[in-house]
This record gives sequence, C-alpha cells and structure tokens, in this order.
Amino acid sequence: MQVSRIAAMFFVCGMVGCAGSPKAKPGLGDGAQWAIAIHGGAGTLDRNAPAERQQEYRDALQAALMIGCERLARGDAAVDVCEAIVVLFENDPHFNAGKGAVFNEKGEHELDAAIMDGSTLRCGSVAGVRTVKSPIQLARLVMEKTRHVLLMGDGAEQFATLMGVERVPNTYVDTEARRRVLDEVLRERAEQEKAQKGAFVAPQRPQWTDGTVGCVVRDQRGHLAAATSTGGLTGKRWGRVGDSPIVGAGNYADAFAAVSCSGTGEEFIRNTVARSISARMEYGGQSLEQAVDAVVFHTLKKDDGGLIAVDRDGNLTAQYNSEGMYRGLADSKGRFEVRIFEN
Ligand code: ASP
Repeated sequence: MQVSRIAAMFFVCGMVGCAGSPKAKPGLGDGAQWAIAIHGGAGTLDRNAPAERQQEYRDALQAALMIGCERLARGDAAVDVCEAIVVLFENDPHFNAGKGAVFNEKGEHELDAAIMDGSTLRCGSVAGVRTVKSPIQLARLVMEKTRHVLLMGDGAEQFATLMGVERVPNTYVDTEARRRVLDEVLRERAEQEKAQKGAFVAPQRPQWTDGTVGCVVRDQRGHLAAATSTGGLTGKRWGRVGDSPIVGAGNYADAFAAVSCSGTGEEFIRNTVARSISARMEYGGQSLEQAVDAVVFHTLKKDDGGLIAVDRDGNLTAQYNSEGMYRGLADSKGRFEVRIFEN
C-alpha cells in the first residue's frame, strides 16, 4: 500500500539521519535523536467494528505520524510539530477534536485545547471555545501573545477575533455519527434518571462516545513539547471543562517528560495525571515507563483512559486502562508503529 511505502522511507530516513539534520544535544543519553507519539483518544471503536472502519483510523494515524517524522527528521521544533499534528486531527472528522467533536447536552460543541513547550515551561490553553476552527492554534497564540496561560469562553472567542484566526459556525463541527451517539446517551440518561426518580446522573463514559487527540515530541535539540485538543465528553453539561486544557492534568511538558492524556477528564484533573509522570521522574528517580505504569494502572481506575509520553532521552510510551487507544509511536532509530488495541 502507498502509505506503507512512504512509512518505510521514513524508517530509513530515521535510521541513517537525514542530510542536514543537526546532531542531538550531547549529554541526553543515547536514546533516539528525535521521537514522537500521537493519539486519537482512549475512547475507541468497538474491537469488533468492521475491519474497514478500523483501517480508516489506522490510515489517519499513519499519515499523521509520517508527517511528524518528516518534520522532525528535517529538524523542526517539538512545539511546531505538536501543533501541526493536532491541527491535522482537528480537521479530520474521525476524531473528537475540531470538526467531528462530540456534542454537549444542549446539542452544541465546546472545545478545549492546550500546548506546552517543555524547554521553557511556556504554555497556552483555551476552554469552551465554540467558533474557532482550530482550538490548538488559538492555544498556541495564548502561549505566544499573552501574559496568560488559559483563556475561556467569550474571552477566548474575543481573543480569537483579535488574532484573526479562522472562525466557523458551531454547526461546522457537527457530524451525523456524533449526533446519533448524543441521542443515545441522552435517551439512556433519561431512562436512568426515571429509574432513580429524577436524581442527577453523573456522565457515564461509554467507550465509543469520546476521545481526544494529542501529540508529544522530543526534537533533535532535546526539547520536549505536548499538545492536546478535544470536544470533551458526549452529553457533558455545558460549561464543563475537562482535563485537556488544564496544565498538568491532561497536558504537560517539562525537561523530563511530555505527556498528553485522554479519558474521563475529571479523574485526570483529580490526579494531576500529566504532571505526575514528570514529578515521579524528577523527585522519585523513576523511568518514564515506571512512572506511566504507576499512574495509568495504579493511580487511575480501569476504563479511566490512557496517555502517550516521551522523555528527554527519546523513550516513548503509550499506556491505557480502557479497551484501546488510537495511537502511533515513531523515532529516529526506526521505530514506526500504529495501533488501536493491544496489537
Ligand atoms: N479527556 C477528555 C475530557 O474529559 C475526553 C476524552 O479524552 O475522551 O474532556
């Protein structure tokens, strides 16, 4: 297949190092010169979904991963690559971010996004934006052009106007598939409420309703970055903000690790999941893998979700406690893999 041929090219490019690529910063271990992980969320298709449907996701992940590899091999900065990959996913209706994001309980969309540059700790987030085509681009502008870290709602929209970013009607985000899921979630919720005599029912997390997209990178200079964008949870209360735009919860990067999460946002906020990974490495001397396993399999509960992470030596990991997670991992040593479930 065309896509696999191009992938093979990147393997070779990664292994031999592309002409003109600056060498990795010395003193950062003998890991990969550059490394990248991407995800399309921990809320995946059912394992028994038709093979063609699964293949659509694999193709989208593979295409995005190849672009990431190409840019890193030519020496692009981690933060630029993270933003570019997330923009791609935001424009792809398969994923719960930008076009194709889930509906809230009012049948509208409120989008969250965050980006962080681990080499400077600079970060920017937006929450509850409704008419911004690419929330991650606006988050980047919050990071670059303001003194602040997080803009929300109307203030974020006004900032978007000021910055002249591309706007869309809220209905641009709509897709039939997400509408059907909302109808189902609201119907189930109404039945549960009736059974519980009108008591409030906390949002459930059916596997197939959610997701988030994200990218983490270690570039050739040894810099780390992370970016995450989401529509949140289907049928969420309007005004609800998840973990993705909360620095340290759903997205984080510093000198130790870059992390992007997907799952039930409230749990990731309670446990400051993304920052916990680098804190375990910084204060506890844990490896990336040890830190990620501890948080995903011990701090979080089954079906809470998962995350992708990279450390300063270019080690990569993707772990989840849900049924699957759309993900891809690649590095300059020739690793290139895309998965949804275990294999
Ligand atoms: N973490 C996202 C949120 O809670 C949703 C997801 O990743 O499925 O907003």
